[in-house]
Amino acid sequence: LPTLFLSLFLQAKMSRPVQARRLEGIDKNIWVEFVKLADTYSTVNLGQGFPDFPPPDFLKQAFVRALGREDHALHQYTRAFGHPPLVKILAQFFGKLLGRELDPMTDVMVTVGAYQALFCCFQAFVDEGDEVIVIEPFFDCYETMVKMAGGTPVFVPLRPKAPNDGKLMSSADWQLDPAELASKFNKRTKAIVLNSPNNPLGKVFSRGELQLIADLCVKHDVLCISDEVYEWLVYDGKEHVRIASLQGMWDRTVIIGSAGKTFSATGWKVGWAMGPNRLLQHLRTVHQNSVYHCATAAQEAVAQGFQREFALYGKPDSYFVQLPKELQQKRDWLVQSLDAVGMKPIVPEGTYFLVADISAFKSDVPDVPNSNEPYDSRFAKWMVKNKGLAAIPLSAFCCEAHKSNYNHLIRFCFAKEEATLKAANEILQKWKQEKNSP
Ligand code: PMP
Repeated sequence: LPTLFLSLFLQAKMSRPVQARRLEGIDKNIWVEFVKLADTYSTVNLGQGFPDFPPPDFLKQAFVRALGREDHALHQYTRAFGHPPLVKILAQFFGKLLGRELDPMTDVMVTVGAYQALFCCFQAFVDEGDEVIVIEPFFDCYETMVKMAGGTPVFVPLRPKAPNDGKLMSSADWQLDPAELASKFNKRTKAIVLNSPNNPLGKVFSRGELQLIADLCVKHDVLCISDEVYEWLVYDGKEHVRIASLQGMWDRTVIIGSAGKTFSATGWKVGWAMGPNRLLQHLRTVHQNSVYHCATAAQEAVAQGFQREFALYGKPDSYFVQLPKELQQKRDWLVQSLDAVGMKPIVPEGTYFLVADISAFKSDVPDVPNSNEPYDSRFAKWMVKNKGLAAIPLSAFCCEAHKSNYNHLIRFCFAKEEATLKAANEILQKWKQEKNSP
């Protein structure tokens, strides 16, 4: 009898491979690893990109009002492709900025964060054998999402040029080589992913740079997936130019946005995709066959946030005016802290990220020749474990073949309370003193 049980048990155990082929090679995720390290060791977490300050009061109050409404309707499903008040105000708001009338029901779709909007784009547009151009360094999920859709990511790097006489490097010093970019477009190219302002560098693409990309998209009949989640976070009077507003681009662009970044509420996971119906209809197909519907009360609160901002657009009380002002100051503090200890900052023109050069710290964390792990990754792990300061290695934002080009750089997030940035400064100062003492 026991033998019978044993053989039945062995038969019941699955032995066939369970993993779908599309998951091969994409199972590791840098965020899972580094978020865990930061949770375990960090006293100051400047790693993952989220504010440690609250969203504005008007937004929190809108959420509380939404939950407390008598009719309970906001606790139930709403329209699958976006809560009507939210798609209406998004169409009105961005229609004004883009100088064209948007149909809220066909040209806007609400998603579970910008992440899901990106996922819908790649699933909707990319077939086996299609190529998608990705500008490097890039938000890491672009590569894996293209691969999961069966496509091939084709990388084109931003190339740094040394700044003039002793000045700090700026994210504007990182530029595309026009000939190199043009060489990546061919018959198989289905889309290009643009992320301006760019995570991780903070680069804000100029009108001229966007025109270069737009001309190539039109020439080769290529789509543009424009991730603009940091659109309000631009500094020093720089302008965020929407590529969809350039000649010939509306028809071939999906704009992606995030209430998480816009209103400092990353945990709400409200995002959107915007574009012509001929593109968005395919995103709706992916959405209705996967997520179908996003949290109603959060959408209602974000709608109210945008209604407020629509009325205050460009005025000093607007959150979209105040937030970048505050963040610019935080950026400047972190630039100073890092510069003072010799961790050379690349001054970002936008986003809430700052990339710094760790080359001067090699004596603290010696390189291991022929190691499989990029130096920046080992450095970031050492720093969080030994100094309590969390940051993200830049090799997480590039393809496998190019990791050595970025392994002297790490990314900090400065969307943090003054006290957090001061604590980071103290860690850096102490570290510098220890380095200087014999
Ligand atoms: N795009 C970029 C460039 C991002 O940095 C992020 C978040 N880190 C996202 C998209 C995802 O945004 P969300 O939290 O709204 O899904």
